[in-house]
Amino acid sequence: TGPEPDADGWMHRFAASARATEAELTALDQRVGDGDFGTNLSAGVGAALRRADAAPGTDTLEHFAEAFLDEVGGTSGPLFGLLLQAMAGAVGEGGWTVVALADGVGEGLAAIRRVGGAAPGDKTLVDALHPAAESLRDSAADPAGTPGSALAAAAEAGWAGVHRTAGLRARMGRSSYLGDRATGVPDPGAVGVALFFASAGGEVR
Ligand code: ADP
Ligand code: MG
Ligand code: MG
Repeated sequence: TGPEPDADGWMHRFAASARATEAELTALDQRVGDGDFGTNLSAGVGAALRRADAAPGTDTLEHFAEAFLDEVGGTSGPLFGLLLQAMAGAVGEGGWTVVALADGVGEGLAAIRRVGGAAPGDKTLVDALHPAAESLRDSAADPAGTPGSALAAAAEAGWAGVHRTAGLRARMGRSSYLGDRATGVPDPGAVGVALFFASAGGEVR
């Protein structure tokens, strides 16, 4: 385990991770969607970094939230924006604690489900975010937990959710048009969510 993550470092590692995996994420979305997920995520982190760089010393999470909500195309852009916005709000209020992270991710998940209408099992990013949120909720009950250990556990839970999406038939989004042809391929948005949590602890892949 490395040093404890902070929000600013996390967002910069997430940006690096999104850029490093752009081609793989695009290839996945070519199999189950329209082939732009990698580009959408990469454009989102690029826009977010430009906003953050233009306003040093301000809340990086807020810049990421606003960039994804305002500037990113595709279904996933605004949905990631809702997650980031809820996290920025909860951490802004509660500080950089496991409880605030669990609250923010839980609120983000609820907003994404409200707006997108997907439930767990529909083969969307909800299938990675839901287990990650539950893991954070469990971690918040452990007084010895740190944000770093909680986010690492959330990433593990997210990856397990990603692996389950490969066995699912899509019921939401573009891959639902493919019927059984998307079965066997993990959901790109779910991979993006797992990468998001994995990059908290310094894993860039
Ligand atoms: P688009 O299909 O508009 O090109 P992206 O390629 O940006 O969107 O994102 C695709 C991802 O969005 C999917 O892999 C899935 O995880 C997620 N997604 C699609 N529809 C929904 C939905 N209704 N609720 C939650 N996530 C969704
Ligand atoms: Mg797409
Ligand atoms: Mg698209």
